[in-house]
Amino acid sequence: MELVIIGCWAPYPPAGQACSGYLLKDQQTNILLDCGHGVVSGLGNHIDLGAIDAVVISHFHPDHYVDLYAMRHFIRAAMVQGHRSKPLKVYLPGNPEDKYSYFASLSELEVIELKSGLCQVIGSLQIKFHEMLHTVTSFGIEVSNGSTSFFYSGDTAFGAEVQQAAQNADILLLETSMLIKDSAYAQQALHLTTREAAEIAQNSRAELLIATHFWPGYDINQLEQEITAIYKKELKMANTGLHLTFKGR
Ligand SMILES: [Zn+2]
Repeated sequence: MELVIIGCWAPYPPAGQACSGYLLKDQQTNILLDCGHGVVSGLGNHIDLGAIDAVVISHFHPDHYVDLYAMRHFIRAAMVQGHRSKPLKVYLPGNPEDKYSYFASLSELEVIELKSGLCQVIGSLQIKFHEMLHTVTSFGIEVSNGSTSFFYSGDTAFGAEVQQAAQNADILLLETSMLIKDSAYAQQALHLTTREAAEIAQNSRAELLIATHFWPGYDINQLEQEITAIYKKELKMANTGLHLTFKGR
């Protein structure tokens, strides 16, 4: 399994960068996890957009879904130009209902509603969804190819939901939105602080934590220092274009 970081910023992208977007590749299977501002442009640096088998949107906040509009227009153009006949498979939360229904109504997309505990097979990957704790309906995404298990938190507050979903993964991609000094804001906006993400990863069986979902203006080194004060295993700070290959157990 391979992971390419297309974008790692929240809630808006700095110059030339993108918000949440993660390309997971395994054998011939390519899945895009989240599709925030700037992701479609960045994705084209790494893969032919037509080779994406499915897009999963963790929740309907703009930094995680707005480039789904661009993805839809890529599919429409390919259909009109005769390069493609089948719609793109897209997994979406059912709430807010107006957003879900809009995308579900488009002929370019084959929309499947996310449910907690729902399991799906896409090519060589098995995917399972876990509802998280956020200001809108939000899902964590567990992906396995039979030898490596990976978990992406999406956006979530600290709690049993994310701890349980993360505990058995080999690889964790966790939002680490807030420095400890901004804990009060993290609690209000239902995000993880560095300390909380570090605790989740340290108490899991994961051997690798990839920290992501950074606020522009934060010092990434400071985020890293706060994580490594608690988390003692391998750490990567997400950055645009970071390409990781995971070996199976
Ligand atoms: Zn976000």
